Amino acid sequence: MGSIIELLKETGRPALIAGPCAAESRDQVIRTAEALLGTPGIIAYRAGLWKPRTRPDDFEGVGEEGLAWLREVKEKTGLRLAVEIATPAHAEACLKSDIDIVWIGARTVVSPFIVDEIARALSGSNVCVMVKNPVNPDLSLWTGAIERLKKKNITKLAAVHRGFDVYYSKPYRNLPLWEIPIELKNDFPELPVLCDPSHIGGNRELLQQISQKALDLGMDGLMIESHIEPDKALTDVAQQVSPQELKMMISKLKIRDHQGKKLDTTLEKYRISIDELDEQLLEILSKRMQLSELIGKFKKEQNLAPYQSERWSAVFNDRLKKGISLKLDEEFLKRLLNLIHMESLRRQG
Ligand code: PEP
Ligand code: MN
Repeated sequence: MGSIIELLKETGRPALIAGPCAAESRDQVIRTAEALLGTPGIIAYRAGLWKPRTRPDDFEGVGEEGLAWLREVKEKTGLRLAVEIATPAHAEACLKSDIDIVWIGARTVVSPFIVDEIARALSGSNVCVMVKNPVNPDLSLWTGAIERLKKKNITKLAAVHRGFDVYYSKPYRNLPLWEIPIELKNDFPELPVLCDPSHIGGNRELLQQISQKALDLGMDGLMIESHIEPDKALTDVAQQVSPQELKMMISKLKIRDHQGKKLDTTLEKYRISIDELDEQLLEILSKRMQLSELIGKFKKEQNLAPYQSERWSAVFNDRLKKGISLKLDEEFLKRLLNLIHMESLRRQG
């Protein structure tokens, strides 16, 4: 098949790759694919066969058995196929089964030796290769994986932004840190960059908003998880949507023209970072107030006074010292801490 760039030109933006997180059964794979037919922009059907799971007892995918189901999808629907690979053996199995697009997942991209081995296994084939960002926010590791593939003469490349696994990522499953894919796109202007809002959001409620943001920032396409019965999915249940919901969502997206434009100016990049930080600040404040309410309830049950001056002065002095060491203005800190404390007391009731 042609490169992803050619496909994008064929379809117009946003190009869409959709399908279940994991292939679970022949029936689920085929019914989902048939229901996705006709979704605007769809260039390929995705399904994970080998699922790298965080915990050992989670569903790890059906493996090679699923390749036969995918071949059936192609025969029945004509959709191109996209599968995640994590080892050279997966790569070889996909090449034998005429898979059109393979992608290297976030947990695999972190390992340069494995990326090299996969690149070697794919070298000389005609397959498109997508590289997800590594789980940790490291642009050079992402770039490095792309360069390793290029060195093995793999030219049909694309990147997929799926967010970053940081300690505090609320409200997202993986923090988007949009400035990183923007930087990548500016470094490799010819490289298509798709966004995977499913793994960024971790929740179907966030899909629309993340997809819109990705398009507004000039991303070339979307990879979205869709399952014929989302609530019964064996993996990533909260983030999968039915094919019908996906069609509705795609039809609501506003497409703006970014042709040939570099993704962002410096000012815009700073603004994106500020937006992200503010979003996290609000999440953290909300979490803090919820904790205050829990403390208030506990104090009532124990018949304790809501305000305990020695505790507050210890907290106040500690935060003031920390804030000053972080180069925050002392007067600003005092006002901010008092404001938070007052609201906290109000919430304790
Ligand atoms: C996936 O796409 O199903 C997947 C496992 O994604 P990631 O590698 O981004 O976690
Ligand atoms: Mn998934």
